[in-house]
Amino acid sequence: MSIDYLIIGQGLSGTFLSYYLLQAGKKVFVIDKSTPFTASKVASGVINPVTGRRIVRTWRIEELLPFALKAYTELGNEFGKNLVKKSSVLDFHPSLQMKEAFDKRLSEEREYLHIPATFEWKSYFNYHFDIGEINPCLLADINVMLDCWREKLTSEKVLINEEFSWDNCLVNNDFITYKNITAKKIIFCDGVAGTDNPFFKNLPYAPNKGEAIIAKIPGLPQNYIYKQGISIVPWRDDLFWIGSSYEWNFANVQPTSAYRERVASQLKYWLKVPFEIVDHIASVRPANMERRPFVGLHPRFSTVGILNGMGTKGCSLAPFFAKQLTSHLTEGKPIYADADVKRFEKILSRKLN
Ligand SMILES: Cc1cc2nc3c(=O)[nH]c(=O)nc-3n(C[C@H](O)[C@H](O)[C@H](O)COP(=O)(O)OP(=O)(O)OC[C@H]3O[C@@H](n4cnc5c(N)ncnc54)[C@H](O)[C@@H]3O)c2cc1C
Repeated sequence: MSIDYLIIGQGLSGTFLSYYLLQAGKKVFVIDKSTPFTASKVASGVINPVTGRRIVRTWRIEELLPFALKAYTELGNEFGKNLVKKSSVLDFHPSLQMKEAFDKRLSEEREYLHIPATFEWKSYFNYHFDIGEINPCLLADINVMLDCWREKLTSEKVLINEEFSWDNCLVNNDFITYKNITAKKIIFCDGVAGTDNPFFKNLPYAPNKGEAIIAKIPGLPQNYIYKQGISIVPWRDDLFWIGSSYEWNFANVQPTSAYRERVASQLKYWLKVPFEIVDHIASVRPANMERRPFVGLHPRFSTVGILNGMGTKGCSLAPFFAKQLTSHLTEGKPIYADADVKRFEKILSRKLN
């Protein structure tokens, strides 16, 4: 089989890259080993334009947020699903200091920060320092997107559920081969597995484990994202996703009883309404030291490419940079210098081993 692009991985990155390359009329084949708890499957799907203790805009959000809205809407149209909605984060200030910080930023950041409309939040939550609103945010249904896109690619016989193995792959100057496939290029969208990829393992990855609780909270309105240290996010089947942790040192990727207990006691303190924990999930974010994605072709091996390093923001970064990588591959357009993997030319030019 002769194709244009062989894509390894069908998380957020591989999904959007295969979508845009197919849209550009290219012949694509995707290899993805289905596992239940990848970063994309565990993600809450929130795109929050303003984050951190300083409540500042996230990198390039003015472009990323409208692009993501369009990307999820268009991809959803492929299979008649609404994959994204506009939402608000209600920020329950955890301290007087945080309330003052929010109030100060409110006068400077008029686009995304607001005072929420009055509502009886006191019947749902215990809180002492008012609420701020971050709007617009987006909430994407990542799991439905991954499942529907996988089904479509599988039915078109352009996705196979198997583990990619280097034993079967040969990288040449003008093409690559994998088993019976010959492709012009191979593009790795392999998430945290990229830390072992012989072509890209020297990149400054900093894998980061995140755990989340899935709970029933009957009666809590499903049209907001609630935040007070942890976030409570509407999830499928009237459930809520609650999380998450950020751990750089971890022994394994399993959910821990310590995290479950910590969240349960936070919820007991914060919520006035009953809740029931029904699941507990965990995965590892393909994060990196620079907090910028890895996008483009290897500086020495032009048949090998990457779309990775999405860190905590894959829901907004993956669609945008999948499109940018597609335009680069098919029309020679540039990739933003601070995302282009060529910025690591020096370390990527070290001898492979
Ligand atoms: C708890 C948690 C909450 C999060 N919440 C959010 C959020 O609300 N908003 C946000 O923007 N981001 C969030 N993220 C981050 C986001 O999930 C990641 O940035 C994003 O999912 C990365 O997508 P990816 O496609 O690059 O990698 P992955 O999702 O890891 O996908 C990689 C794919 O490649 C496959 N693969 C790897 N190696 C091989 C191989 N050898 N053979 C075959 N297949 C292979 C894997 O099985 C997988 O399907 C969260 C992450 C976590 C852990």
